[in-house]
Amino acid sequence: MRLLSWSMLLCICQQPTVDVCAQSARERAFDAAASASERGYEWLAWSSAHIGHRLTGSNQGRRAELLADSLFRASDLDTVFFEPFEAQAWSRGTVALTIGDAQGYLHVPCVALANTPLSCTTEAPIVDAGNGLPEDLDRLGSAVKGATLLVNLGLVAAAEGTTNLHRSEKAALALEHGAGAILFVNQVVGGVVLTGTASIDGSLIPIPAACLSIEDGTHLRERLAQGEALTARLTMRNNSDMVTARNVIGELRGTEHPDEIILVGGHLDSWDLATGATDNGLGSFSILDLARLMASMPFRPQRTVRFVLFMGEEQGLLGSTALAERYRDNGTLEHIGCMINLDMSGNPQGFGVCGPAGWRAVIQDACDRIRRIDTAAFEGRTSEEVWLHSDHEPFLLRGVPVIYPLSDLGKHIYGCYHSSCDDIHLVEPSAMTNNVRFVGALLYELAAASRLPGHFSQEDLKARLISEGLEQSLRIGGVWPWE
Ligand SMILES: [Zn+2]
Repeated sequence: MRLLSWSMLLCICQQPTVDVCAQSARERAFDAAASASERGYEWLAWSSAHIGHRLTGSNQGRRAELLADSLFRASDLDTVFFEPFEAQAWSRGTVALTIGDAQGYLHVPCVALANTPLSCTTEAPIVDAGNGLPEDLDRLGSAVKGATLLVNLGLVAAAEGTTNLHRSEKAALALEHGAGAILFVNQVVGGVVLTGTASIDGSLIPIPAACLSIEDGTHLRERLAQGEALTARLTMRNNSDMVTARNVIGELRGTEHPDEIILVGGHLDSWDLATGATDNGLGSFSILDLARLMASMPFRPQRTVRFVLFMGEEQGLLGSTALAERYRDNGTLEHIGCMINLDMSGNPQGFGVCGPAGWRAVIQDACDRIRRIDTAAFEGRTSEEVWLHSDHEPFLLRGVPVIYPLSDLGKHIYGCYHSSCDDIHLVEPSAMTNNVRFVGALLYELAAASRLPGHFSQEDLKARLISEGLEQSLRIGGVWPWE
């Protein structure tokens, strides 16, 4: 039925507008199929119930790789393959935090951040280091040396215009200033604790770092403010093994420009405190259904679309860094027109883009056309904000323009980021359906463009990262590409 109306539309269209008409008919046909699908959600619900978390290097992680591979294979894609990479993968063992005061000891629940030491015990006075930014540590001076720093993950009572740092960057700064241990305070009420890497490059950091709930952190902070002398005894045992993990890749070859590749990716791996249904089941399982639906259409995109499910994102962008390096070394990188990253994406209302001149106009035009399909569900917003610490970063740093859906999932979801509450009950099936609909429409738009603007030049990229205030962050991370 759908096929019939699509071919009729094709017939009605006459030259020279035939391409535009055909393109629009294709996008509508795809949207009709995508709107009726909740397959991504169903697969994610199955995976959450039967596999659980998808930590890289764990049995569950390997099962998730196999599941994604078989789902790609069950779709009618032109190619499906694994891109294995080796990486040192951290996993948690045990952690215990005991707070000592003049009276005695108190056990406080916490979780270890990733890439913390395999075995250590520290006992040191607790010092309130506020937001853990350079100015906070400078203010404390020599008091930081050997201390256990209490540091906010977010920004609390910061001056207007203050930029926060990633937890791994705060850990690197604390280490540089000689801290002995770090206790991060979460920002989410209700006893929620958060995990995530404390290391910028995925290697182990030499001091322990753990996360406390906001309630426990606030309580400690109040006692310190009243002049109490508190010590923290932090003991942790963790594991780190060299593992082979696999990015899972599927591809639809372009009909007109097969050598021009649009990469659409998202990380399949998750943290292990829950099932990672939102981070990043939302993105990765949407991509699986997107691939299935695009492959099921009676037409192919004009450019090649490569679907990539990355592993190792959470431990430090391991899979995407390995792939971007491989593509640079084998010459594939110059064939990648752009990289679209779905990380905690749901119900997109437009697209952000970070590319050289010309890209925003391409994305705005595409959004305007996508809006014609559904003005109610898609606002068609664009943004040029640049952000880091997800799988687009290794591609961006090598000059590839990056695109990401603009999502606003709400506090109930962002509050469970990397936490024990990130589970399937948070996922709205329609948020995934709309990922597929609108990212799919964008792919068809980009695949059909007569030409796409190119990559960043080195100078343009450098200027852009500096103007976005990201130089410090990238330098602390040791990945600033210039002197
Ligand atoms: Zn993520």
